[in-house]
Amino acid sequence: MTDDRRAELEEALAAVRERVADAARAAGRDPAEVGLLAVTKTWPAEDVALLTDLGLAAFGENKEQEGAAKAAELAALRPGATARWHVVGRLQRNKARSLVRWAHAVDSVDSARLVDALEAAAAKAIDAGERSDPLEVLVQVSVDADPGRGGAPVDEVPGLADRVASAGHLRLGGVMTVAPQDVAPEEAFATVWELAGRVRAAHPGATTLSAGMSGDLEAAVSYGSTCVRVGTALLGRR
Ligand SMILES: *Cc1c(COP(=O)(O)O)cnc(C)c1O
Repeated sequence: MTDDRRAELEEALAAVRERVADAARAAGRDPAEVGLLAVTKTWPAEDVALLTDLGLAAFGENKEQEGAAKAAELAALRPGATARWHVVGRLQRNKARSLVRWAHAVDSVDSARLVDALEAAAAKAIDAGERSDPLEVLVQVSVDADPGRGGAPVDEVPGLADRVASAGHLRLGGVMTVAPQDVAPEEAFATVWELAGRVRAAHPGATTLSAGMSGDLEAAVSYGSTCVRVGTALLGRR
């Protein structure tokens, strides 16, 4: 059972890596510039354990409670494994205090109030010895400003990035986006690429552009993505 699943994940991982590498080469980029975040939401900790065996170390969850539980289960299943957990979904501010105990990063920050809540929570966690490093934050961009999917409108992103960068217990990693359904992904990714360049000009450490999922990773890589977030193509249909 576990062996079958391991083989299945190994094959899917190789296929995803090949897609990323092909897209990078087609864009004249080095495939090593594009990281892979395995989005493990709804999948069990056993799958995450197998992915760590296959060399992955970055995992994405979209719900605080599910992520906290899975992080604890993984630590029990693979005590020696390195795992950096990213929250990629919409987040209520009252979850910040719990999240900073297990998450390495929040990739979906889209409001000043959420920045302030995460800064306060990270400060408390560091003071209490519950974490040692600042919380990494990506500002999520919404290209069509549809409030349903999360993300801040393009014109609010530079200000949010400044706010994160000046928070003492957060580290600005860069920007993240989910391409809207009603716009060609190329158009959305081009907009976010330009915006990410502006954020990086103001904050040279903000080098991450998290863009591309199972269905549109090629387009995202052609527009400078440094991190694709892949669920379905790696783990199967939810
Ligand atoms: C679920 C999810 C993904 C992965 O999507 P797939 O289409 O399954 O690859 C990526 N990013 C975010 C924000 C998600 O919620």
